[in-house]
Amino acid sequence: MSSTDLSAKLFADACSVIPGGVNSPVRAFSSVGGTPRFITSAAGCWLTDADGNRYVDLVCSWGPMILGHAHPAVVEAVQRVAADGLSFGAPTPSESELAREIIGRVAPVELLRLVNSGTEATMSAIRLARGYTGRAKIVKFSGCYHGHSDALLADAGSGVATLGLPSSPGVTGAAAADTIVLPYNNIPALEEVFDRFGDEIACVITEASPGNMGVVPPQPGFNAELRRITAEHGSLLVVDEVMTGFRVSRSGWYGLDPVDADLFTFGKVMSGGLPAAAFGGKADVMGRLAPLGPVYQAGTLSGNPVAMAAGLATLHAADDAVYATLDANADRLAGLISGALNDAGVAHQIPRAGNMFSLFFGDAPVTDFASAKATQTWRFPAFFHALLDAGVYPPPSAYEAWFVSTALDDDAFDRVAAALPAAARAAAQVSEPA
Ligand SMILES: *Cc1c(COP(=O)(O)O)cnc(C)c1O
Repeated sequence: MSSTDLSAKLFADACSVIPGGVNSPVRAFSSVGGTPRFITSAAGCWLTDADGNRYVDLVCSWGPMILGHAHPAVVEAVQRVAADGLSFGAPTPSESELAREIIGRVAPVELLRLVNSGTEATMSAIRLARGYTGRAKIVKFSGCYHGHSDALLADAGSGVATLGLPSSPGVTGAAAADTIVLPYNNIPALEEVFDRFGDEIACVITEASPGNMGVVPPQPGFNAELRRITAEHGSLLVVDEVMTGFRVSRSGWYGLDPVDADLFTFGKVMSGGLPAAAFGGKADVMGRLAPLGPVYQAGTLSGNPVAMAAGLATLHAADDAVYATLDANADRLAGLISGALNDAGVAHQIPRAGNMFSLFFGDAPVTDFASAKATQTWRFPAFFHALLDAGVYPPPSAYEAWFVSTALDDDAFDRVAAALPAAARAAAQVSEPA
């Protein structure tokens, strides 16, 4: 690896004006150490940093870039639409076009509201579920991440897990008091809570297939059980597809495990790398939103035309061949990682959710956040840095999913294959912290 001096200087500069130098905590490399790389451009599956180093990108902006970076159709659409004005604060045709595209792919979604981030989508879905049912309590699962709104930060995955926080200072007891946190993949625990509080629970929110405590898929039938139990008690089921939506299939996780939830949330892939997200669901529930109903929700830049163009271009390009390639690339990448770790004698597992996967060291089964935390996460920083030094960019946390794009080609896989043996040896050599 050549120098990282410019990234180090840019990071120092950033730290003097931005808390921790980053605008989203996991980017700071806190759990793996070292200097975050400052990325200046990207094309296909390659990232280029400020020092001119190139990396095979296995993060894909945390999921959105399924077609790779600077995909010609997406860039062309963004440039064309941008030339006609960036934001109007009035309705535009492309908002309905993107809404219709999503409604056509996820059958239970009859109406859709566009917002600016996944955080807004889940926060608004929770407000709507409470407004619709007239109930206060919500149930979430430990290790599931639904963005950073107050009620949903309790025992969350993603950066909250990476930094080892139980929740966050600044979230008042009152804001979290109505959030019941349960272990994932545990139906008896859910039934117990519903037996006690069933008529006070507005909704259960779950990741369609969790990817924010590492990839921890639902056990077969888990989501369907959530549907059954919530329906029996007049609660809503909110399925968060911000990560899985339009990534694991053209209909997201719903395409693999079609469960008839009341509300769905989307983000990441649906806006092709620009800031847009959405929540949608049954017409009688969505009809309670302002201006049709009393539940307020709004956004100055919501449905932004440039973001709509990026999303539409991405979804239009993502045909069956794209999903077949994503699945094949995930198979190939996971196979390479597993092969190198086996050669180095490192026990590991690579749980999959469609083309998403993550890497847990050790062989104890992982079914929830507690078992994810019990894995040998201490091997991860050495593995990560060996890959990074060899020009491969994995997620900088043991609790994050790895993301493939269609742009991964033989050159990229060759680089990954060349980097893995040393990384696997580095992981093998780490001794367990006392
Ligand atoms: C990324 C993510 C969010 C939050 O989306 P932001 O756009 O970062 O606010 C919510 N839920 C899930 C499942 C996610 O993966």
